[in-house]
Amino acid sequence: MEDKMSRRYKSWDLPYDTRHHPEELEVLTRPQLQRFLAIRTGHGDFAWYHRRYKHDEAELRCGCGRPKTPDHLVMCRQSRRSFGKWPWPGEGPRIRPQTRAEKKEYLRFLMGDPLAFKEFLEVTRFYANICPRGLAPLSLPVSPMCLSFLFSLSHVEWRDLVIYFHILL
Ligand SMILES: [Zn+2]
Repeated sequence: MEDKMSRRYKSWDLPYDTRHHPEELEVLTRPQLQRFLAIRTGHGDFAWYHRRYKHDEAELRCGCGRPKTPDHLVMCRQSRRSFGKWPWPGEGPRIRPQTRAEKKEYLRFLMGDPLAFKEFLEVTRFYANICPRGLAPLSLPVSPMCLSFLFSLSHVEWRDLVIYFHILL
């Protein structure tokens, strides 16, 4: 099982536990869940993704002018304005992530804690105000046909596909 985990999934270093009902299904709204899964899988409202699948109408840039990438929400200078309100892990001191590695580490915290991810979106209003979807198509497939297409992608984990099913049913 471990060997089959994709590089992207490993990069999040998340617990790989399929026995429990995923917490993200309980705490996130459907749009939040779509964004959450898009970041984890790399498939979503991102510049490279729109280019690859030739979504000509898609907006490739965040409101700040930078390209949309999975980790941009913690890199974006506009979301960093509300840093004082960002959810924070544990009791440690609140230190603004500066290096790319520190920002990535903060995003890893959000990916492992859906409630913190939800809080982050609410305090930054990242997808509501800073980086709205614009003309881009839905970031997640919403039909069984798209789902079977997803199955053919080796780098989408089946755990996330289970969650897609939950969204569809
Ligand atoms: Zn931005």
